[in-house]
Amino acid sequence: MWIGIISLFPEIFGPFLKSGVLGRGINKGLMKIDFWNPRDYSDDPNKAVDDKPYGGGPGMVMKAQPIFNAIEAAKKEQETDLYVVYLSPQGKLLNQTILKRFLKKKNILLVCGRYEGVDERLIESVVDEQISIGDYVLSGGEIAAMVVTDGLSRFVPGLLGGEASVQNDSFSDGLLEYPQYTRPSIWAGRSVPGILLSGNHKKIADWRKSQAIERTSKRRPDLFGSRILTEKEQEIVNKNLEVSNE
Ligand code: SAH
Repeated sequence: MWIGIISLFPEIFGPFLKSGVLGRGINKGLMKIDFWNPRDYSDDPNKAVDDKPYGGGPGMVMKAQPIFNAIEAAKKEQETDLYVVYLSPQGKLLNQTILKRFLKKKNILLVCGRYEGVDERLIESVVDEQISIGDYVLSGGEIAAMVVTDGLSRFVPGLLGGEASVQNDSFSDGLLEYPQYTRPSIWAGRSVPGILLSGNHKKIADWRKSQAIERTSKRRPDLFGSRILTEKEQEIVNKNLEVSNE
């Protein structure tokens, strides 16, 4: 998978792209991340990338031209299927379904804003979609771009060392994931749930499913909105509702 990033501060991504699963994926050539800095494309004699907002008000606004030319440069390198995403608190809230959709695009270009954001005409003319990582305002789109990149990396075949772990991840089937345990079997006086040591794969799978449903109904009942429960799943949900109503 290829991800292009338009950012005034590409150095922020340094250690992030070298570490863990993502670092390995880049080393193995399974993922490629390229950067374009709008400052390199500014046609202003002083290489300015921002200016005062028309109509007055605080702060500065990123000029359309340097970002537009940076995007054009990226397009020259990746001509096919380039999907331009602007990270913005005004965008659609990111979730696992959106990430899966992005995965199919092959080539994603993430545009990071700074200051008070970017000239609206740039968004109108070249941006395919706007994405927010939450209802709060950050000082730049770089952290949001890292969130998208990291989330996408978990789906890249061969990166996690086991496709199943992605399939089980929270949200993948509209549920939070079941609780995880590792050695030792007793730690600080607490035992691992006995069923996990039983070796009975069917029972373990059932237990995990019911745990996933239980914690989703307790912690994120809103997730059930987009999911039709089986009879058995509904039973577990009802049982939890009864407990929480007592
Ligand atoms: N004045 C703007 C916010 C600008 S924040 C407004 O009120 O809408 C500066 C930059 O940070 C934005 O251009 C965007 O790229 C990034 N950013 C801030 N919060 C974000 C969020 N929640 N999700 C994604 N990007 C965000």
